[in-house]
Amino acid sequence: MEVNHIEELKRVMVSIVRLLPVLAALVVATAPGARSWSKEGHILTCRIAQTLLDDGAAEVVHNLLPDYADGDLSSLCVWPDQIRHWYRFRWTSPLHFIDTPDSACTFDYSRDCHDLNGAEDMCVAGAVRNFTSQLMHYHHGSSDRRYNLTEALLFLSHFMGDIHQPMHVGFSDDKGGNSIQVRWFRHKSNLHHVWDREIILTALADYYDKNLDLFLGDLQKNLTKGIWSDDISSWRTCDNLLSCSTKYATESIDLACKWGYNGVTQGETLADEYFESRMPVVMKRIAQGGVSPNNTIQNDAKKGYI
Ligand SMILES: [Zn+2]
Repeated sequence: MEVNHIEELKRVMVSIVRLLPVLAALVVATAPGARSWSKEGHILTCRIAQTLLDDGAAEVVHNLLPDYADGDLSSLCVWPDQIRHWYRFRWTSPLHFIDTPDSACTFDYSRDCHDLNGAEDMCVAGAVRNFTSQLMHYHHGSSDRRYNLTEALLFLSHFMGDIHQPMHVGFSDDKGGNSIQVRWFRHKSNLHHVWDREIILTALADYYDKNLDLFLGDLQKNLTKGIWSDDISSWRTCDNLLSCSTKYATESIDLACKWGYNGVTQGETLADEYFESRMPVVMKRIAQGGVSPNNTIQNDAKKGYI
């Protein structure tokens, strides 16, 4: 009996030790200061993307999703944030954002799309290009083992959200606003997090009864028969992978300068005025993130890639 207890205790200890790296990764992944649209932002973008897919592209997405996703792309759109600190995926960490020269308010792919060691294409614009071109291999069928296309789909869906979050294309010095401490109404936050999450959460609480489906319904109404319906075709206009990703990143840094950074000082309190004027920008970028990948995927489908 005594021996059994000790054996049991040993087994429990071994499981805890095995779990530690996972727990540590989870803690790091959810630590404040991380750079990513909130899960709400990603879910909204992915739901829009999936509803706009034509039958062919929808089937591809359905085939690539693991069974447990139950056909719902949005259920896995935050996965790249959850694994970015795991040893195997640590290389993906620089792919969530772009650092641009301080106060330049421009994006130049060859100048800005690299990691801290200067490795080319290691930024969110490079990731959008890379994972889109990986998905183009879908037509080769499952015999092409060079790429894990399920991962490529999840990465692309996620990074299309990130590249549209204006502060994900921010200045190097302040880490996309992460080091600009502010108060959001009464609590402490930072400028990056205001754009990742605070504006979305405040909008959900103030206008949508904390119901994400109501928020999504409004975005979809604006897209189908509202203020954005005439703009969708221009959102979809870009010629190739480089020009598409450059377009999204250029729009983001432009918005970051005009709406994100503009007039915000260290330690400032941001409240009603900032929220009311920036919320339409955030809503539009979430929607654009959902419309644009559709364009890329469907263009590829037309070309026979997928
Ligand atoms: Zn991210």
